[in-house]
Amino acid sequence: MVAIGECGLDYYRRRTSPEVQEKALRFQLELAGELSLPLSFHVRDAFPDFWAILYDYPTARGVLHCFTAGPDELRAALDHGLYVALNGIMTFTKEEYQLEAARQLPLDRLLLETDSPYLAPAPVRGRRNDPPMSPPSPTFWPASRRNRGRAGGRHHRQRRAAVQNLILVRRG
Ligand SMILES: [Zn+2]
Repeated sequence: MVAIGECGLDYYRRRTSPEVQEKALRFQLELAGELSLPLSFHVRDAFPDFWAILYDYPTARGVLHCFTAGPDELRAALDHGLYVALNGIMTFTKEEYQLEAARQLPLDRLLLETDSPYLAPAPVRGRRNDPPMSPPSPTFWPASRRNRGRAGGRHHRQRRAAVQNLILVRRG
């Protein structure tokens, strides 16, 4: 075992009450503390409650997975020492608050994730997201001219466009 999670709070789907979710999250935070393991956090529509709980565990470390919030939540995550994971959403989003947070995210705190089979990136958005399609995979990145072949030309151009979107997001 290398980490605890995903764990966190999800008020979007409301399948479980906030009280039960908090109880489970605190249990997992305590377990991670006992085992000295990092956590992978999932937080959706629940940041105020999440920060309130997390501040009770100052030694908790880990990654905020599937980050799509804005600069304020980014600042709180960085202040707590968390890594922040971006995924395929960042290849097509036009939400300025998400783009601004991505610009401000320091490279040494940035992780790329697939969230496979969900969140396929721009060239294949809406399809099943297999890891080779996603930014963390070397096969996502534009192939060299030698390896590309003629059939790969269209996909190559689409992927290059998605990668350039990511780079633009990063450069602001
Ligand atoms: Zn999740």
